[in-house]
Amino acid sequence: MRLEQSPLSAAIWHSTAIAAPATEPLAGSVSVDVAVVGAGSTGLSAALALREKGASVAVLEAGELGEGGSGRNNGMAIPTLSKLDPDDLIARYGDAGERLARLIGGAATQFFDVVRAHDMQCDAVQTGWMAPAHRPARLDLLERRHAQWAKLGVPCEMLDKAAASEKLGSTWYHGGLFFPEGGHVNPLGFTRELARVALAAGAQVFTRSPATRIAKSDGKWVLRTPGGRVETDTVILATNAYTDKLWPGLKRSVVPLLNFQMATLPQPEAVRKMVLPTGIAASDTQADLHFFHWDGAGRMITGATLALPWVGAHARLRDKVGDRVAKVFPVIGKPWFTHVWSGWLAMVPDFAPHFHRLDDGVFAAVGYCGRGFALGFAAGRELAKAALGAPDAEVALPFTEVKPAVPLHELTSPYASVAMLHYRRFDTRD
Ligand SMILES: Cc1cc2nc3c(=O)[nH]c(=O)nc-3n(C[C@H](O)[C@H](O)[C@H](O)COP(=O)(O)OP(=O)(O)OC[C@H]3O[C@@H](n4cnc5c(N)ncnc54)[C@H](O)[C@@H]3O)c2cc1C
Repeated sequence: MRLEQSPLSAAIWHSTAIAAPATEPLAGSVSVDVAVVGAGSTGLSAALALREKGASVAVLEAGELGEGGSGRNNGMAIPTLSKLDPDDLIARYGDAGERLARLIGGAATQFFDVVRAHDMQCDAVQTGWMAPAHRPARLDLLERRHAQWAKLGVPCEMLDKAAASEKLGSTWYHGGLFFPEGGHVNPLGFTRELARVALAAGAQVFTRSPATRIAKSDGKWVLRTPGGRVETDTVILATNAYTDKLWPGLKRSVVPLLNFQMATLPQPEAVRKMVLPTGIAASDTQADLHFFHWDGAGRMITGATLALPWVGAHARLRDKVGDRVAKVFPVIGKPWFTHVWSGWLAMVPDFAPHFHRLDDGVFAAVGYCGRGFALGFAAGRELAKAALGAPDAEVALPFTEVKPAVPLHELTSPYASVAMLHYRRFDTRD
């Protein structure tokens, strides 16, 4: 059975984000140094960095700005991956793994720096992000993670139950690992503002312009859209979970997983003073992740991944996530959700983001596993360096071969969520 994501207009961010800068579909032919496919945080960041270095750039986006994960995500800027830590990355990629770990650890600050530098209007708050422990035994895991990130110099702090409870406004957790450089934004607002800044820097950005073909002709890469063509030396595919069949084999390298987001009505100020009182964002240690933050108007932004999501998803979500909010934050009780929307995560079996040199002058970034918003921004800047010829040792991305994620890929999209049932079993074990 085919699963569909909601339209972008279902997201609360569509009602609350600053208006998008004017963009049009590509009509006719353009010639640029670098073509970027995908107008999310990775692609737009690469475009801005390329303009800062004097390269000409055209961005092709199939839908509207932020049509992919960047416009519909939860909005958390998180300076870690979900499963892998610096030692895992170093063991896997050596020096390049350490550069990637440092990039990840600094990604939230890069992200908020660009917000501040360009006065982006996106309700950005760098109030910190916490991973609270849902079982006492998960504190050991968090301690190990703390040691590794602290060794790299990434600001982070282990909190005992009392300190974590104070920051969370909840006694449900047993402690937590806090990263003060994390935070949250209105993600569609951020993406639109990043496009505004890239356009002002001289990038060309074409929306409703799917790249349908890519081929080499007379030593140049030529990308075709329904209304035009882009001729270029270098291409960056920044399509993550929304990767289509444009480049053979790339789509098969990720498993799209549908994830749901939800927003409550704005909560009374008295409640907001008790729950997440300093405005932090949090996502806990469960595979069936519990995550929460306040948006700019005091709505709780949360959500879930459902197993078997094609059966009564919205009613089940309202019930399940409502109960979850009441359990963790009894002062809120079971809230009414005004908005429920969804988008695709790009999962990969090894839980590491994948960066590829697909051919001479063709780069790709996919497989962020639900942690690519701030990291996508930071990685976009590295892809821009690579696109302009920086040697690998100066780029904080390990470039790897493209591999199919799983056999029988066509079946994975609807059924990936069934894997949730498997992973959830570990949430109740130490
Ligand atoms: C519901 C949800 C919640 C999430 N929450 C968080 C979070 O809180 N924090 C976090 O760090 N991460 C989160 N993520 C993940 C995060 O959103 C992504 O990792 C990140 O946005 C990836 O950015 P990107 O620019 O690489 O890709 P995207 O933002 O997905 O952009 C890819 C774009 O490529 C376009 N495209 C694809 N093919 C073509 C083509 N052939 N031609 C032209 N355009 C094309 C698509 O239309 C799309 O707009 C979440 C994701 C989802 C779906």
